[in-house]
Amino acid sequence: MSRDVAPTTEAPLRLTGALCETLIAQARAAEDREICGFLACTSDRHGPITRYVIHNRACQADSRFEMDPAEQIAAFRAMRERGEQLIAIYHSHPTSPAIPSAHDLAGHSYPGVAALIISPHAAPDQRLRAWALNGAEAWPITLLCR
Ligand SMILES: [Zn+2]
Repeated sequence: MSRDVAPTTEAPLRLTGALCETLIAQARAAEDREICGFLACTSDRHGPITRYVIHNRACQADSRFEMDPAEQIAAFRAMRERGEQLIAIYHSHPTSPAIPSAHDLAGHSYPGVAALIISPHAAPDQRLRAWALNGAEAWPITLLCR
C-alpha cells in the first residue's frame, strides 16, 4: 500500500550522485539477488554518508533480504565509534519496481529511518526511491542524488 501525501513532513534524503550510482551498480552486479545495507551520517547530517554493505542471508534472496546479524552488529558499533546515526536502510528489487513489498512493510523495524529501494533496471528516474514506512503504510520521501 502506498499513498502520495505524507502524514508528516519528512526531510528529503540527500545523497551524492556518486553514492547513488554506486548503489545501482552494486544492485546490478548482484544480478537476481537482493542487496542490502545501511547508510549513516554524522548526527548533524552535514558530514559524508557512510555506506555499510551487509550480506543478504535470506534463503529466497531473489525476493527477500535478511541482514547478516554479525555484520549488522559490527556496522552499529562502527557508527557509534564514528558518531554516526542510521539514516537509511537500503535494499534492491532485482526485477520489480522500487516500491515496498508487504514483506518490506512488515519487516521495517526502524521508525524514522528511510527505506531506500533500488530497482537497477527500471527507468532512470525510478531506479532509486526512498520511503517512510510505519509497519502498515508507505509514503514516498524526496530523494536528492547530486
Ligand atoms: Zn523489498
